[in-house]
Amino acid sequence: MAASKVQIPLKVVIHKQEERVLYAEANSDFVDILFSFLTMPMGTIIRFLSKHSNTTLPAAAVIGSFNNLYKSISNLQTRYFATEVCKDMLLNTRNSAEVECRKLKVNIDDIRPIEYFTCDLKCTSENFDAYVSTYNCVKCKNCSRFLENKAYFTDTRGEDGQGVFVHRTASFVITDDLHVIPIIPAATLALLEKTGFTDFGVLEERNFHLGSTEILDLLKYSILSKTPLTSMFLGKNYVIVDKTIQTITNSQMSTEGNTSDKKMTVKVLVQKSNNKILLAEAAEDFAELLFTFLSIPLGKVISLLSASHSSTVVAENLNKSVSDLNVNRYFKSQKLKNMLLDPKLAEHYYSSNQIIPLKQAATPSLCCEHLVNPKGSDVFMKARTMFMVTDDLVVTPLSSATCFNYLNSLKVPPSDVKDQVVNIDMQEALNLLWATLNTSSVLNNGLKDSVE
Ligand SMILES: [Zn+2]
Repeated sequence: MAASKVQIPLKVVIHKQEERVLYAEANSDFVDILFSFLTMPMGTIIRFLSKHSNTTLPAAAVIGSFNNLYKSISNLQTRYFATEVCKDMLLNTRNSAEVECRKLKVNIDDIRPIEYFTCDLKCTSENFDAYVSTYNCVKCKNCSRFLENKAYFTDTRGEDGQGVFVHRTASFVITDDLHVIPIIPAATLALLEKTGFTDFGVLEERNFHLGSTEILDLLKYSILSKTPLTSMFLGKNYVIVDKTIQTITNSQMSTEGNTSDKKMTVKVLVQKSNNKILLAEAAEDFAELLFTFLSIPLGKVISLLSASHSSTVVAENLNKSVSDLNVNRYFKSQKLKNMLLDPKLAEHYYSSNQIIPLKQAATPSLCCEHLVNPKGSDVFMKARTMFMVTDDLVVTPLSSATCFNYLNSLKVPPSDVKDQVVNIDMQEALNLLWATLNTSSVLNNGLKDSVE
């Protein structure tokens, strides 16, 4: 990662006796970065944090079972994917707000800017329809040769020096649990009272400068800690609360445009004596359902789960803050506010095997030629392959030997194993997503209501 020397200031107000951060005061540069976390696909976050493991965090940054999912894709041979690009797309997920995030004062996304490739001059001048790809190993639909000539398109959505998501002139207060509110003394006081604060004498101000390392820390704590600012600035170890799944009943679930009729089935091996799911024997559709969780932006994961589940991650408060802040006063436009409230998949990330309905960003208008879908279809995985999926989402090609070895490693005797087919629909898919974010027992949390 190219180390960025740019640093942004943050004033942190600490409760001296209790050694906790009460709040921080920041300008738009910091708040833009904080809000940009919502646009990051889970795969991007896992990729950052695994590279960042040697810094200040006491333990490795493991987010539920997402790390295993990511490693599984990395370990799978390319032949299991629909095209050779699919594996790379899942390992290097793109952010649909990439153009905006490139304008952040400190941008931690080190992914190369999108490159465009076309056919040669002869083909593009002879054919009315010209094709463009963002990968140089995709074939031209006119002549079937590779689109490998670099093309340049002028990006007109450049820097206007006026901030990214929020107005340049705005300043904010950020609470320890990441509520972002306008900097109004009365509001700040009300907020302090809520945290049990009674005496101005206990306040102490400290000034920090944050570079890319600190921003990565903050991203990590905003998912793993209940008190990200205290964890970060006072070096207190965060506590991972062992969460149990609590779904909100269907009647309360927000259903506007968010239902899906898609279904799939998966065979699970269950330990008879305690009704625990040991593993799943799954076709590529179920593997893809799980793998494409990595393409979902954090903010979308939060909004999907907060409608149906009672506890997610503290970054949920960022989503609430975006929703509460007045668009004209604080955001540069309604479009930018929407980009944070309902972040979309990057282009070509739509998967027909994903049961959870997700919107994909439109193809950028800077390119008038036909942009070829590098997947070649609506799926990432090759059809008719079987996988073994463990409870903590290690996904490997299925063979009876690997399956028996795994059962043996769990010390489960063959006589104690039965199989069962379970149906996966929208509710199970959301439960699986929740469990992937929060636990290392995903199949048992996600499918527990389906096992008899
Ligand atoms: Zn061609």
